[in-house]
Amino acid sequence: MTTGLADPVLVVSDAIMAYSGGVRALDGVSVTIRPGELIAIVGPSGSGKSTLLNVMGTLDRPTSGRVELGGRDVTALSDRQLSAVRSRWLGFIFQQFHLADGLTAAENVATGLIYAGVTRRERRRLAVAALERVGLGHRVEHRPHELSGGERQRVAIARALANGPALVLADEPTGALDTVTGQAVLALLRRLNEEGTTIAVITHDRDIAASLPRRIELRDGRVVSDSRLTGGGAASLDETVRMPR
Ligand code: ADP
Repeated sequence: MTTGLADPVLVVSDAIMAYSGGVRALDGVSVTIRPGELIAIVGPSGSGKSTLLNVMGTLDRPTSGRVELGGRDVTALSDRQLSAVRSRWLGFIFQQFHLADGLTAAENVATGLIYAGVTRRERRRLAVAALERVGLGHRVEHRPHELSGGERQRVAIARALANGPALVLADEPTGALDTVTGQAVLALLRRLNEEGTTIAVITHDRDIAASLPRRIELRDGRVVSDSRLTGGGAASLDETVRMPR
């Protein structure tokens, strides 16, 4: 549970992402994420979720606005500096897992550590530890085609965790899974959060969003509501602060 006092992991301030033709995928979005949070970023298709994820993940630069990771403005960094910051601070989980078919689970996880400046042996040790954390200690030598969808996503989650990131960004992490498997993956993310990992889940699924402690709702490139829980449990309307438009 967050106290609201810890220094933010990530701050996005007044981000605008403008495309030619006058489209604003983000139209002045501000988001602050503190250590220990588990957040849903929710909204219908086209509301700007992917664009915000890319901005939060330093994969895209906003047209204007500021992005801070660990108190440092990253909007002016070079691509090379950004990839270093990304590998140190962030973990990514995608809907389609993005695992390499020819590599074992351990090798897939270890590839995420190539830029972390650790030896091959240490990469292997960290990869196996991360796989154990997601309950796949018995699948380290399996290749993706030998794993179920839920297991593949758990390998991808292990890869996101291996370097101990300050923030994990998950883009529709249950979108390619059946309901039961998706719920198991969500339960895993919840457990990892309880163990201290800060996680933002991008989703169009309102039920998933409602089950997470904080929800930020996007519409037409704007934050239309943000909620913070004062205790445990699921969403209720009176916790939701409506944003002025
Ligand atoms: P979501 O992830 O919520 O579906 P997106 O962030 O993908 O929404 O898109 C938000 C809006 O920005 C949409 O109207 C989309 O068509 C537009 N958009 C996204 N990327 C581009 C782009 N590269 N060029 C032009 N418009 C874009």
